[in-house]
Amino acid sequence: MYGPGDIVAVMVGVAVEGPYSYRVPANMSVTRGTVVGVPLGPRLTLGVVWGKPNDEIGHNRMRNIDFSFDVPPLSEELLRLVEWVARYTLAAPGQVLRGVLRSPEALDAPKPVVAYRRTGMEPEKLTPARLRVLDTLTDDMPWPKAALVGASGVSTSVLDGLERAGALEKLEIPAPPVVFPPDPDAAPSALNPEQQAALDRILGLDPKRFGVALLDGVTGGGKTEVFFEAVADTLRAGRQALILLPEIALTNTFIDRFTRRFGTKPAEWHSDMTPVQRAKVWRGVLDGTVRAVVGARSALFLPFRELGLLVLDEEHDGAYKQSEGFTYHARDMAIVRAQFSEARVVLSSATPSVESRNNANTGRYAHVRLESRFAEAAMPDITALDMRTDGPEKGSWIAPSLAREVFAALDRGEQALLFLNRRGYAPLTLCNACGHQYKCPDCSAWMVEHRFRGVLMCHHCGHETRTPKHCGECGEVDSLVPVGPGIERVAEEAAIRFPDARRVLLSTDMGSHAQLRERFAEVERGEYDLIIGTQLVSKGHHFEKLSVVGVLDADLGLAHGDPRAAERTFQILTQVAGRAGRASRHGKAFLQTYHPDHPVMKAMVSGDREAFYAQEILARKAGGMPPFGRLAALIVSASVHDHAINFSRTLLSAAPMADGVKLLGPADAPVSMIRGRYRVRLLAQSARDFDLSGYVRFWLSSAEKPKGDLKIQIDIDPMSFM
Ligand code: ADP
Ligand code: ZN
Repeated sequence: MYGPGDIVAVMVGVAVEGPYSYRVPANMSVTRGTVVGVPLGPRLTLGVVWGKPNDEIGHNRMRNIDFSFDVPPLSEELLRLVEWVARYTLAAPGQVLRGVLRSPEALDAPKPVVAYRRTGMEPEKLTPARLRVLDTLTDDMPWPKAALVGASGVSTSVLDGLERAGALEKLEIPAPPVVFPPDPDAAPSALNPEQQAALDRILGLDPKRFGVALLDGVTGGGKTEVFFEAVADTLRAGRQALILLPEIALTNTFIDRFTRRFGTKPAEWHSDMTPVQRAKVWRGVLDGTVRAVVGARSALFLPFRELGLLVLDEEHDGAYKQSEGFTYHARDMAIVRAQFSEARVVLSSATPSVESRNNANTGRYAHVRLESRFAEAAMPDITALDMRTDGPEKGSWIAPSLAREVFAALDRGEQALLFLNRRGYAPLTLCNACGHQYKCPDCSAWMVEHRFRGVLMCHHCGHETRTPKHCGECGEVDSLVPVGPGIERVAEEAAIRFPDARRVLLSTDMGSHAQLRERFAEVERGEYDLIIGTQLVSKGHHFEKLSVVGVLDADLGLAHGDPRAAERTFQILTQVAGRAGRASRHGKAFLQTYHPDHPVMKAMVSGDREAFYAQEILARKAGGMPPFGRLAALIVSASVHDHAINFSRTLLSAAPMADGVKLLGPADAPVSMIRGRYRVRLLAQSARDFDLSGYVRFWLSSAEKPKGDLKIQIDIDPMSFM
C-alpha cells in the first residue's frame, strides 16, 4: 500500500521504455496493480501502479496521480506477464500494457439500470396490459425495465401509467451481470472409455500447479467434449477458465455447444464486439463475476485474477500469431501466463505444431491421445490424384475422377466440398496482346481478380481498381485473360458441372462475419449440397452430411520456401480432409497434386502421421530450426530500396559477436515491397538455450538508430517469412 506523499512508479499505456514516477495525492491509497489516471505531457493517460520507483528522489516538478479507478488491482501474475512479454518480444512494456487496458470504458462504474417493483397498491383501473405487468411482478423483486417490457409484452407507457397510479415504484438497480455463471454440472457428456482416459490424464495434472497437456486427437474424436470436462473441473474448483479459438468470430457452433454443456452462454472476447460488451466482459473478468471466457488470442491479456485453466483449441493454427504491433504467439504466451498463475493448459489439435509434439515427446507436456472418431464415424480414406496423368483438361480445375466422386456423393444425398486455399477469381491477369501483367503499384505482388466484386485487388495492401475492359498498357480491347484459379473460378466451373446441386461459396470476401455465420449454419442444416471454399471451411466445422472432400491444389502451401511449409501443408490438408465423414458416413478425400511422392502427400495417403512428425522433427533438428533452435527476424523497410539495404548492412556490421549465433542476410524479402516500402530481411539463428531476445535487444541498443523513414520491425519466433 502506498499513501499520500509516497512516490510510486506508474507504467503508462504508451510505448516508452519503463514506468514514470508520480506522487500519491492526499486522500488516495494505491497498491501495485491499481489502475490510475496520470498526467503525461498535456493530457491524462491510463496507467498502472507498478510499485516503488528505482530512484525515489522526489523533486518539486513531480506530478500527482490524478485519480484512481474503483476496480480491483490487476493481479501480480498479469503484471509479470506484461513484463515478460515485453522483454521477450522486444516491445515496450507500455505497449503490452495497452493490450491489457484495451477497454477503458470498463474502468468506470457500470451504469445502474431502471427497474420497477410492485408497491402493493392496486391501481383503480385495471386493463389487460396492466394485469400482465402485475402478473409478471409476483413478488417484491424489482425487474429491469427491458426485461419487464419483454416478459409482459407491453409498451413502456403502460409502466409509466402504473407508476403514476401508484402501483409501481421506479428504482435503479445495479446492472445485471454480462453473463450468468456457467454450471459445471448442467449437462455433462457421457464420455466413451478413450475420452474418459484422456480426461483422467488431463485432470491428473496437479490443479494447483502449472502443467500442460497436449490433447492430440483425430478430427471428430471428441476433443471438445473432453476439454469441456476440464473446464467444468476448473469451475468446480472455484477458478476461472479461458478457451482460446483461432477464429472466434465465425464459430457460432462452438458457443452453442458451450451453452448446452454449461447451461448458459460463455463471455466472449473478439473483434466483433461493441465497446460496451467489451467493457462488461473485461470488468466481469476482473471482479470475478465472469468465470469462463471464449475468446480470440487477445483474450490472453484479460485481467483474470483466478485463472485456473487455459485451453487453446486448434493450437497449431497460424491465427494465434499476432503479427501487427508487438508480435507474439498466443500459444507460447499462454504457457507463460499459466506458469505465473499456477494454472493448467490444454493444447488441443488433430495436427499439433511440431513444437508441441516435440514437447510431448520429451515429456514436458503430458501427451494425451484420442485415436478414434466418436461413435460410428470413421477416418476418411485419402487418395492422391496425380495431376500429371489424371489432371483436368486445360482451362478446368476439377479432375474427372474427383468430379465423379462428387456426383456420386450428391446422388446419395450427401454433401461434397471443393477446397482451394486462394481467394478471388484468378491470381494473375495478363494482356494477351502485349503480355502486360497487372501488378499492385505499391507492392511487389500481382493484382488478384475478384470477379464477384468486379475488382482487381492486392492481397497485401488491399489496393483495388475496377477490373479494366482494355489493357492499360497497349490499349487492346478484350485482351485481358485470367491466369490460374481462385475459389470464385472453381465456383464457376462447379456451376457448369453440377448445375442441379445447391451450391454455396464460402470465402472471407463473401460477406460480413454475421453473413458468413449464417451461411455456415445453413450448411450445417444441410441446406446446401456442394460447398466451395477456402481455408475458412477447414476449421472446426462439423458438417454431418459431408462425405467427399476434394482439394484442388494440395501443393499450394509447399511452394513457399519457409521452414514450416511442410508442417502447414500437412495441417491444412489433414484439417480439410477431416471435414469428411464426421458423422456415420464413410468419408473420402482427394488431393490433386503434382507431387504425389512428396513426404506430405505420402503421409496423408498412408495416414501415417507419426512418420510425418518423426521425419519433420529430424529435419528441424538437423537444420537447427525451431523448436531445436531459435529464430528472430529483423525486417528493415524504407521507401528507397538502397536506404533499406544500406541500413541493413550497417546493422549487420554492428552485430555483436556471440558464440552460436548465426546471422543471415540481408536479403530482399520474398514480398520485397509492401505499401510502397521496400523490405529487407535479416535473420538471426541460435541454439535453443540461448537468449536470442536479449541478444537482439543488446544488438539494437548498440547499433545506429534508424533515421528518416527507415523502420525496423522485430519478429521473435517468426511464423511468416514473406
Ligand atoms: P473434435 O473436437 O475432436 O474434432 P468434437 O468434440 O467436435 O471432436 O466431436 C465430434 C462430434 O462427436 C461432435 O458432434 C460431438 O458432439 C460428438 N461427440 C463426441 N464425443 C461425444 C460424447 N462423449 N457424447 C456425445 N457426443 C459426442
Ligand atoms: Zn499492394
